[in-house]
Amino acid sequence: MTTDTAHVIVGGSLAGAKAAEALREAGFDGPVVLIGEENERPYERPPLSKDYLLGKAERSTIYAHPPQWYREHDVDLRLGVAVTSIDRGSRQLSLADGSTAGYGKLLLTTGSSPRRLPVPGADLAGVFYLRSVGDSDQIKAAIQDASRVAVIGAGWIGLETAAAARAAGAEVTVLEMMELPLQRVLGRQVARVFADLHADNGVDLRGGVQVSEITGSGRADGVRLADGKHVPADVVIVGVGITPNTQLASAAGLEIDNGIWVNAQLQSSDPDIFAAGDVANAFHPLLGKHIRVEHWANALNQPHTAAKAMLGQDASYDLVPYFYTDQYDLGMEYAGYVEPDGYDEVVFRGDVAGREFIAFWIGEGGRVLAGMNVNVWDVTDAIQALVRSKRPVDVTALRDPDTPLDSLAAG
Ligand SMILES: Cc1cc2nc3c(=O)[nH]c(=O)nc-3n(C[C@H](O)[C@H](O)[C@H](O)COP(=O)(O)OP(=O)(O)OC[C@H]3O[C@@H](n4cnc5c(N)ncnc54)[C@H](O)[C@@H]3O)c2cc1C
Repeated sequence: MTTDTAHVIVGGSLAGAKAAEALREAGFDGPVVLIGEENERPYERPPLSKDYLLGKAERSTIYAHPPQWYREHDVDLRLGVAVTSIDRGSRQLSLADGSTAGYGKLLLTTGSSPRRLPVPGADLAGVFYLRSVGDSDQIKAAIQDASRVAVIGAGWIGLETAAAARAAGAEVTVLEMMELPLQRVLGRQVARVFADLHADNGVDLRGGVQVSEITGSGRADGVRLADGKHVPADVVIVGVGITPNTQLASAAGLEIDNGIWVNAQLQSSDPDIFAAGDVANAFHPLLGKHIRVEHWANALNQPHTAAKAMLGQDASYDLVPYFYTDQYDLGMEYAGYVEPDGYDEVVFRGDVAGREFIAFWIGEGGRVLAGMNVNVWDVTDAIQALVRSKRPVDVTALRDPDTPLDSLAAG
């Protein structure tokens, strides 16, 4: 497929790097340009709150590709420069360094950014957010020296950094607005497993609290709660969710609704512009609705669909959403999709108290909407097959560890 027109990818992280790879794999031999505002070449973020933060993984292990890969695959990697605007009429991008880049097809993989905490003191020294490898380096150094760490927000990032701070020997308090950690994502029954895990590892987990201020003069020395209580801390880590980086797309007049609104081919309201990864709110044919997924597997896999669609090949993204976490000695994988409170019951198979089990979220008509395996391995394919089948399952057999999951998935 020979052309002089460049296919340009904006956003030099996992989705961007995988898109460059996928364009080459799909046979595109014209120019590929990958533009990222970070100075680092594309890297994966999950280790930043796990093994890299814990000091167990070297920096060299986080990158999507070795440096020579871009040269070998003739990918023009432009780092440390943001794209500031898209002129859709002339198909030109303007970059922050004053240069421009023309595109034939454009893929936006601009990802997301941590939501800022709107309280006084949120910008004091000693207050950290975690998104980039630089943030992870700073937090790693800070928790090594800290005796008391306060984590605001008991989502995935908050809980993983709490586990890392405990491993570094700090006293850790986690402050969460909901009663339980991860309650919105997992529901109360499964959220309790994570509450117990952190309590058993010495975390002071406080649910149902509202943060009103980060205290300190010049440097954070604690967190004030709405009820007036003060939690002393030398390091404060904020993990209160992320927002998709839609500014560029929005200024260009693309349709935006909780991310860049794209179809199952990951094509936006402009047929020459596509989006993938955290920033894309994509129609999911299996689920029959648009979803925006803020997880690694989505950033890894969606670009293959986007690249094919950019080349006019048949493609549609319908993989079952998947994510994972590691905290202390708990490893977990989750496959499927459940709206908060959008299920009838949770069915457990295995030893919940011993944290070695699978939980299934059952929806309308007895279908498995999602499954989460905790310290149980090699079941993701079977769980995904159950979700994909949309068939009612026999809940008694689902609970029974002696009934192979594969047989249930096969009907
Ligand atoms: C600490 C951490 C731990 C995580 N752990 C897990 C996990 O355990 N499991 C899991 O499933 N998921 C995890 N995730 C989520 C996962 O990493 C994300 O879903 C994934 O990084 C999304 O990739 P992306 O390429 O879409 O976006 P991003 O990784 O956000 O990358 C977007 C890139 O685009 C750049 N950019 C933005 N705007 C512009 C512009 N105008 N011009 C140029 N460049 C621009 C940004 O600087 C950034 O480099 C974790 C995330 C973090 C931060």
